[in-house]
Parts: sequence; structure tokens; C-alpha cells
Amino acid sequence: MTDAIRPLPLFKYHPRPLETGAFETGKTVKCDCCQQATPLYYSGPFYSVENINAFCPWCIASGAAAQKFNGVFQDDASLEGVDYAFNEKGEAQGTTGAITLEQVAELVERTPGYLGWQQEHWLAHCDDFCAFVGYVGWKEIKDRLSEFADLESDCADSGLQTEDLEKVLFNNGSCQGYLFQCLHCAKYRLHIDFD
Ligand SMILES: [Zn+2]
Ligand SMILES: [Zn+2]
Repeated sequence: MTDAIRPLPLFKYHPRPLETGAFETGKTVKCDCCQQATPLYYSGPFYSVENINAFCPWCIASGAAAQKFNGVFQDDASLEGVDYAFNEKGEAQGTTGAITLEQVAELVERTPGYLGWQQEHWLAHCDDFCAFVGYVGWKEIKDRLSEFADLESDCADSGLQTEDLEKVLFNNGSCQGYLFQCLHCAKYRLHIDFD
């Protein structure tokens, strides 16, 4: 009997997880959530009390992994564009901006994360989270500078100027770029951090 290849679930905020390397391949591991062997697995950031080895894509997409281990794939304090409204007990009961708690839940509980040098930040645009496209340096973005929403301010957030990028920004370098794309206007955003 041959294993049917299950189609990958669609992750709206991380649409090409094989290209970004969010899902690793090359060996079969056991998913910590469903306990099934999986040829595609995630071992990236996951914030929970228990140490996790690997999750299959399906347990991430369904929310089962986040629920079972009471964990998240993104720190919910590091999401751009989210303003929480808290109740008296200090629990987030809603948001005051355009991005809703449901969108936050989809991103932090049901979307594979990415790996940054520092705390990962997830960028937003057009009142929604952007899709993570991948790890980039100057070489990977120089031909699409006009497709950025506001590269200058993205650089300024890291204390850089656009002119600096050519000299400092290298994929897999100590100044790393993380490329995002708006799901609505299709413009790019760039997050930069340093090792
Ligand atoms: Zn699983
Ligand atoms: Zn946009």
C-alpha cells in the first residue's frame, strides 16, 4: 500500500511554507500532536510550557497543536497593527483597531511561524496581517523596490536607510530581511533584524 500524499493545508498568512522552509522534509518524524508519522514537519518557533519536537502541517492548520499544548506560533505581543482591549481581569476581550481577535487567532494558533535572529515580528498592511513570503537580502529585493508599500519606513524601524541595504542586507547574513506581502494590495513590506 502506498501512502497517499495529502495536499498541504492552505495557510493564508504563510502561503508557501515549503519554499520558506517552515516545513522540513527528508525524513519522517512523529507529530507531537496527532502522533502520526509525517514526511513534512515543522520544528520552528512554538511558545508553550512543553518542549515540542515537531508538528505536522495538518495539526497546525486545524488548531489542534496550539490547543493541545496551549501554545502559540507567534508571540501575540509582537504583531503589528494590533491594539488589544482588555477586561478587568487583564484578558484580551477584543481589539480597538481593524484587526480582529479572530485574525490574531488564525495567525498565532494556526499558522507556522518563521525563524528570526530576534523576536519575530509579523507585519500588517491594509488592516490585516501580511503573508510571510520568505528570507531575503538586498539581492532578492533590489529588482522589486517599487512594489514595496513604504520601504523607507520599514528600514527606519530598524535604524537603517534604504541606501544602507545594498551594503548590509544579506540573506543568511547578520543583517537579515524578512519579506512580507499584503494580502489586499499586494505591496511588499520588509522586516529587518540583526544577530
Ligand atoms: Zn499532527
Ligand atoms: Zn496593503
